[in-house]
Amino acid sequence: MMFRFVFAIVFICLAILARAQGDIDIQHYEFNITLNDKNDTIIGAAEIKVKFLHPVKSFPVDLVLQNEKGKGMIVDQITVNDVLSENFSKQREKLIINLPQSQQTDSAIVSILYHGVPADGLIISKNKYGDRTFFADNWPNRAHNWIPCKDDPDDKASFEFIVYAPSEYQVVSNGKLAEEKIMAGNKKVTHWVEDVSLSTKVMVIGVAKFAVNQFADSPPNIPVSAWTYPQDSVTGFRNYSVAPAILKFYSDYIGAYPYNKLANVQSKTIFGGMENASAIFYYEESAEENKSMEDLLAHEIAHQWFGDMASEKSFSHLWLSEGFATYMTDIYLESKYGTDSMNRRLRDERKTAIDFARHSNRPVVDSLSFLMNLLNANSYQKGGWILHMLRREMGDTLFRKFIRTYYDRYKGTNADTDDLEKIAEEVSKKDLHQFFKQWLYTPGIPQLNIRWLYNEKDKTVAITIEQVQKQMAFGFPLQIKSEGDKSEIFTLNITRRIETFSIPASSTIRHISADPNTALLFDSRIEKINP
Ligand SMILES: [Zn+2]
Repeated sequence: MMFRFVFAIVFICLAILARAQGDIDIQHYEFNITLNDKNDTIIGAAEIKVKFLHPVKSFPVDLVLQNEKGKGMIVDQITVNDVLSENFSKQREKLIINLPQSQQTDSAIVSILYHGVPADGLIISKNKYGDRTFFADNWPNRAHNWIPCKDDPDDKASFEFIVYAPSEYQVVSNGKLAEEKIMAGNKKVTHWVEDVSLSTKVMVIGVAKFAVNQFADSPPNIPVSAWTYPQDSVTGFRNYSVAPAILKFYSDYIGAYPYNKLANVQSKTIFGGMENASAIFYYEESAEENKSMEDLLAHEIAHQWFGDMASEKSFSHLWLSEGFATYMTDIYLESKYGTDSMNRRLRDERKTAIDFARHSNRPVVDSLSFLMNLLNANSYQKGGWILHMLRREMGDTLFRKFIRTYYDRYKGTNADTDDLEKIAEEVSKKDLHQFFKQWLYTPGIPQLNIRWLYNEKDKTVAITIEQVQKQMAFGFPLQIKSEGDKSEIFTLNITRRIETFSIPASSTIRHISADPNTALLFDSRIEKINP
């Protein structure tokens, strides 16, 4: 996802879910959700197909239960395989369902009837025009505020939403529309089915008065559309109209688009954009006049492959989602506007990563327990830069093969950073252990003091490179450009805290610069020493 205002987000306390859920694997969810205009109470009926990975006596379902302020869900009834279950216990955010001996088998259908006002996760409010809207906003584990589920990115399932709402609203969701029918009493039922198994973080509904436009340049069999508030349709349709071209670019670069449609939806998400699979939600102002939304759309559309389809095993590896979306955006923009334009963007991203590293001593692969705090420059800009350095290490052809291989192997499932490293080594046939260790598991960014001296007598340049960051010394190739009567680029292989090199110069050197091709994540100070 993308932030509008990084620090303007209301602080949301999100404890990492207990990982005691390794006993079950959810196969399918059916969520029936009834909405109304009189109050913010939702009525839910969930049918969950659970596979038991080994015989269990009880298992947990995540659901935020009603608190003292009246927010949260009240459970009305639970059945297991159509048998009424009285034997369950409640924790604050969890139901523990106990199974009778006869049901301790390999799978079960659990039905949960519930109702309540969502504390979070389903944002029921008024949009900027004062119209009532309902938008799910689940990242990272806010789904269980309004749907009972295993709220963990590592458990993927197919699902369907059957939404009962007042008939003036339209309902958008993941997957394909199975039914939309007007019922008695000005009600409407809308049924969306997603056959692709996904994490709860990207399962959504959006319910509002919408204007909808399908773009004429959509790829065959993949309708790409814009869903905006009717008042913003002209500008919104225009701002979102870059989506089909972006989708085509990634389909070609990474692999076939994995879903059957792409809806781009103006919404009340707390993020700038949220990459819900095949139904991306963007912040309200994204549909306003004179706004270039191209990089935001490119970021969220890249997530359809990375984050949604090939997903991180846990949020510690969030960079596999955000770093990829950041760098895929750079690659898309490079294809459209050229390498100079991408390099300018990379230098801005590098500055953001360096500024962040000044006050953070955390690695990219990070087990922070407040998940919202992982939406930082380590996950985004530094993650993107790590991919860029891998590309410089491998070359364009092998890098693309690496991206495609990783996606192909992990689409529909989850990966961690070790899984990615294995594929990088397999494709490049290089030992990248040190690369991954220093850039992903070690905090900091190389900070270089570069001192140089031109030696007239023997026509050489003496260069001393000192790494002054407080963290460990890094190893990397550093390109230096020397400028005299003519300019030359040479590569120094840095392996130690401080090293001195002597380089032959064909003419008097007047100026030295580092990293002329924008290939290294580093910060530097260059100083000419007078003999
Ligand atoms: Zn993102």
